Amino acid sequence: MNNFYSYNPVKVIFGKGMIARMPGELGGFERILLLLGQGSARRNGAYDQAMTALAGKTVVEFAGIEPNPEYDTCLRAVQTAREHEVDFILAVGGGSVADAAKFVALAAHFSGEDPWRLITREAPPPKDILPLGCILTLPASGSEVNNSFILSRRATRSKQGFFLPALYPRFSILDPATTLGLSRAQTALGLIDTFVHVLEQYATHDTASPLQARQAEAILATLVEIAEPLLDRPDDYDLRATAMWCAAQAQNGTINRGQPMDWATHAIGHELTVLYDLPHAQTLALVLGGVHRHCLAGKRQRLAQFGRRVWGLAGDDAAVAAAAIDATEAFFHRLGVATRFSQLDMEAGKVAEEVTALVADKGFQPLGERQDIDLAAVAAILRAQA
Ligand code: ZN
Repeated sequence: MNNFYSYNPVKVIFGKGMIARMPGELGGFERILLLLGQGSARRNGAYDQAMTALAGKTVVEFAGIEPNPEYDTCLRAVQTAREHEVDFILAVGGGSVADAAKFVALAAHFSGEDPWRLITREAPPPKDILPLGCILTLPASGSEVNNSFILSRRATRSKQGFFLPALYPRFSILDPATTLGLSRAQTALGLIDTFVHVLEQYATHDTASPLQARQAEAILATLVEIAEPLLDRPDDYDLRATAMWCAAQAQNGTINRGQPMDWATHAIGHELTVLYDLPHAQTLALVLGGVHRHCLAGKRQRLAQFGRRVWGLAGDDAAVAAAAIDATEAFFHRLGVATRFSQLDMEAGKVAEEVTALVADKGFQPLGERQDIDLAAVAAILRAQA
């Protein structure tokens, strides 16, 4: 097992009606920036419950954070935070709103020029980073339980991640009842995002960390168990609760301790979002199988273990590992999500050309847990997903 630190201070407040417990978490904070997405919080009840719980506080609203949050929008939210001298950022929405809240918390007291330089680490973070909290209404990214965020900057065709210890939410309230109205597509994409988050941390190579492996397999097997029932019964509170807790468990730092991580699928997927504005988890479903087939030699042992323990497959390692990749893509299909570019009327050869041109332009670093996925490999992976 590799050496590691383990630290996660996020207080998770989970369950139906738990937004009402928020006042106990906000003692001492009086001027709240309420950050919202594109309207869902008003439909799913989270907004009204949050406003009730914020009675007596000064609340400044900023709505309109989009999926794959845009830097320019987030800059306007930073401006609002400064003008109203808020002392706390509260995100109400999905992972994109939580990500935006972290950036606003980071940049609100930054006095330098162009806060993008914070994200690229060209400028040091300010000392006074604002505290933040989260009311989650769309489980997928896991941003509610960690200290990282990703912003898009469409003007420069960039999508950049960042993390810092000061950006852990003080609390995250997860009420599965607020997710009951999510569409079939949102639900399927959230499940797939979670599934891929686990595989990016698990399907690497064994470092004698059997507990972390079984913790990852438990999340994967649970997702397989609940995914189709949840699409059939979207009003089932307990299935929604399990999906929400799986998304948090995948990204709270439990399963990657002492483990090498991959994240090549996410890195390539981010470029597909930049170029074609595809939903995040759709890009992952398109890329994952290609990455796993390309890296089969290095990942064989873990993919075979995944095939046996999650998909119930039998046979030798090579056969089971290959069959596990197919079984995963078949699972995504059953959830109604494409795994081949042709299924979206896209031409894989052209995609491979455009993605490699874009990443070469931005300065490409080899991907994967072994840093052995070079530009030619990225192109081959994308072409193989025709
Ligand atoms: Zn993701």
